[in-house]
Amino acid sequence: MITLGIDIGSTTSKCALLRDGTELLATSLVAAGIGTAGAERAVAEVFEKAGIAPGEAAASAVTGYGRHSWGRADYESSELSCHALGARFVFPEVRGIIDIGGQDAKVICLDAAGRMSSFLMNDKCAAGTGRFLDVMAGILQVPVSELGAEAAKSAAPAAISSTCTVFAESEVISQLSSGAAREDVIAGICRSVAVRTAGLAKRQPLASPLCMSGGVAANGAVRGYLSEELGMEILFSDLAQLFGALGAAKLAWQKAK
Ligand code: ADP
Repeated sequence: MITLGIDIGSTTSKCALLRDGTELLATSLVAAGIGTAGAERAVAEVFEKAGIAPGEAAASAVTGYGRHSWGRADYESSELSCHALGARFVFPEVRGIIDIGGQDAKVICLDAAGRMSSFLMNDKCAAGTGRFLDVMAGILQVPVSELGAEAAKSAAPAAISSTCTVFAESEVISQLSSGAAREDVIAGICRSVAVRTAGLAKRQPLASPLCMSGGVAANGAVRGYLSEELGMEILFSDLAQLFGALGAAKLAWQKAK
């Protein structure tokens, strides 16, 4: 049985196609989220990549911030459940997921059986989310996908102390104008996201292994600082940004089978 998972986020739309809940056939990612044609395009692309007709999918599930805007799925589910299912698909033993997306950050704890035991979320403030990195990348005119590699060149991350994106923006500009090295400022920016997220994570009983999900997981500097702050290893997969879509495809299979 083929199932489709759709994750409509604030900045990106992602899809995954699974066969029998176990075999990943294809994924797609379109850099356009809620309120755009991104989801439509991501769905078309995932079927095209898999070389199968949309009618061949027996069931679908939708998740993400924009899930209510998609009326065509058989099932709808929260991001928490889908990220947990997607993370366990890739890392079957995982006990904690740190999800940093375009507009929020979540820390999800799972018991040994994979059931959610607790979670905390920051959806009130852009600092500590992908949005913060997007704004800073814009100021520095660096693609957001290169922030991690730039930060890796730094030996002394600049201190970014502001807890608000707007104030941090002025802080970054003033650091640059007073001669701070660009890579140190970028490392400071990545570190500040990691420190904020670690604060959220430390408020829960964390168990190993931990992994990251969401687009910011691809930023190796954020992962490294987070691991340092928590004193724990953090697993990473190239599929991290697709965990929500993967989990939705898995959920559709569990419900429909
Ligand atoms: P959402 O589901 O809310 O759209 P995502 O989980 O897709 O969020 O994450 C989007 C965020 O991930 C962006 O705001 C950006 O900061 C970050 N991001 C996206 N692509 C990359 C990349 N290649 N490397 C590092 N960070 C990235």
